[in-house]
Amino acid sequence: MSLDTINRYALAMDLLSLDARISIVVKETGLSAGILRKAYVDMHHRSPASGSLKTSPHFIYKSHLRTKEATLYAVYFRIQNVDEFCQRTITSYRRYSSYIKSVSSSEPILDFSEAWVISKWLTNGTLKLVRCGHCRSAKLLIDEQQYYVCCVCKT
Ligand SMILES: [Zn+2]
Repeated sequence: MSLDTINRYALAMDLLSLDARISIVVKETGLSAGILRKAYVDMHHRSPASGSLKTSPHFIYKSHLRTKEATLYAVYFRIQNVDEFCQRTITSYRRYSSYIKSVSSSEPILDFSEAWVISKWLTNGTLKLVRCGHCRSAKLLIDEQQYYVCCVCKT
């Protein structure tokens, strides 16, 4: 087995352990969906989630809590000094997740697959991470929309 193949399996195990959607793992590793589904069931003792990935970033703005956590995730993704997209998303998600668990004793609002699409949107410019002009907190904006209430200072 070549190193490349071993690395792809290792990445698949990382992604499956984070509960990534099978479609994401297929895209990132090139391994077959059948093998990945079986590995998922062996690992989690349940079937993987079905259904499509979020196609629009509007779900981020359904509540202030969701907006805050998505912004926090986006900050971790921004400051990650790793070029490779998938590794950068995994590390950022682990940091975001352990921060939420350490400060609130609850589970993170965003699942890994949501974080993965947020990373895609940050990379292609659909989402922009800017500073609030009033309180300088990080603020996550959808490109086409010009104005959002800051979830920290409410301006
Ligand atoms: Zn503000």
